[in-house]
Amino acid sequence: MPGSTTPTTAAVLTPPARGAIATVSVRGAEAVALADRFFSSLGKISVCNAPIGRILVGHWQAEGEAVGEELVVAKLADDVVEIHCHGGVQASQRILKHLAASGCQVESWQSRTTSQHSDAIVAEAKLELPTAVTSQAALHLLDQANGALSREIATIGKLVEEANFEVAAQKLDHLLSLAPFGRHLTQPWLIVIAGPPNVGKSSLLNKIVGYDRAIVLDMPGTTRDVLHATTALDGWPVQFSDTAGIRVSDDEIEQAGIAKAKAALKTADLAIVMHDATNLKPDELDQSLKELPSALHVVNKIDLADALRLPDSGEMLATSAVTGQGVPDLISSIVSHLIPRVPQTDDPIPFTSRQVDGLRQLWEHVKQHQADAALQSIQLLLNA
Ligand code: GDP
Repeated sequence: MPGSTTPTTAAVLTPPARGAIATVSVRGAEAVALADRFFSSLGKISVCNAPIGRILVGHWQAEGEAVGEELVVAKLADDVVEIHCHGGVQASQRILKHLAASGCQVESWQSRTTSQHSDAIVAEAKLELPTAVTSQAALHLLDQANGALSREIATIGKLVEEANFEVAAQKLDHLLSLAPFGRHLTQPWLIVIAGPPNVGKSSLLNKIVGYDRAIVLDMPGTTRDVLHATTALDGWPVQFSDTAGIRVSDDEIEQAGIAKAKAALKTADLAIVMHDATNLKPDELDQSLKELPSALHVVNKIDLADALRLPDSGEMLATSAVTGQGVPDLISSIVSHLIPRVPQTDDPIPFTSRQVDGLRQLWEHVKQHQADAALQSIQLLLNA
């Protein structure tokens, strides 16, 4: 397109799935002229002459095509036009084809988002937001999309300029302490349910998730693969794995459960170690508590135990995967183990490994009072 320095681009902003409406955004010097080439409004107002923000209803058709489409066009700025057409893939792809044939560059919504934001962290938050699986995760990502983390990093930059390295380091310590939480705004927390065969792992998983994801079998040690189920607890995304039953001799069963839970904890965020209320062995319980201090220990099948005596430590939870007794308390314990302190609205939270790596590097420079290097790290963090 002669005369324009940067190319005019078009991107579909809505997901490639069934939906009532799809939105194509056209941005650049030729956006309005391109829309006028294909679109005629019912009110005979051209996009060029329409006031900014006016919604125009009309007909979109390319020369030589037998049928066109009724749709809505809005000019959002002198160089931005949005076309709202029928949902689904076909209609928006046809519009893109027309625009591309007229010299418009087609780009993904991701590259549109990245190019639209000079602040790299804001762009990263906007890229993650559409895939946030729970409202809690989305709310915290939205805060970062609105600049919470970028503002905090800019504040740290000011502190560095004033040679106030101590307060800058405190702020960085706090930000880095939130990194594990931030990682889970885009990935679920991983929870492993471990314990001997037939203790009720699958049943408990089904009870928590609310549907029969795991197959419940009466036969101990029945070989199964590890089963996964993703759900939200208190609005936080979590993925459970039910470790498969393992065939071991009777006296090894509890040991094997502990070993499995230990191994699983290397990759998981939390292990739930289950014990059978109908077959409790106090020594093994003690050992399990000692060897897995960071796990949640659950005695299941309490509906079958007449008078259940749990260790006094208060570290054990009692459940029935059949009646549901104790399951709400277990869910509360899981949530408070995973997220001991929920950040406030508007709190700055790093949520990508790029940000965390950058913040660690910045921390090193701040600790060594290297102002120039620290300011350079800040530049990199904000303008990747
Ligand atoms: P897993 O091998 O540890 O996954 O155990 P399952 O969930 O397959 O359960 C084994 C058997 O114990 C099944 O018959 C379940 O119905 C039963 N079961 C599991 N949890 C409970 C419980 O809390 N109470 C009772 N009464 N039975 C349970």
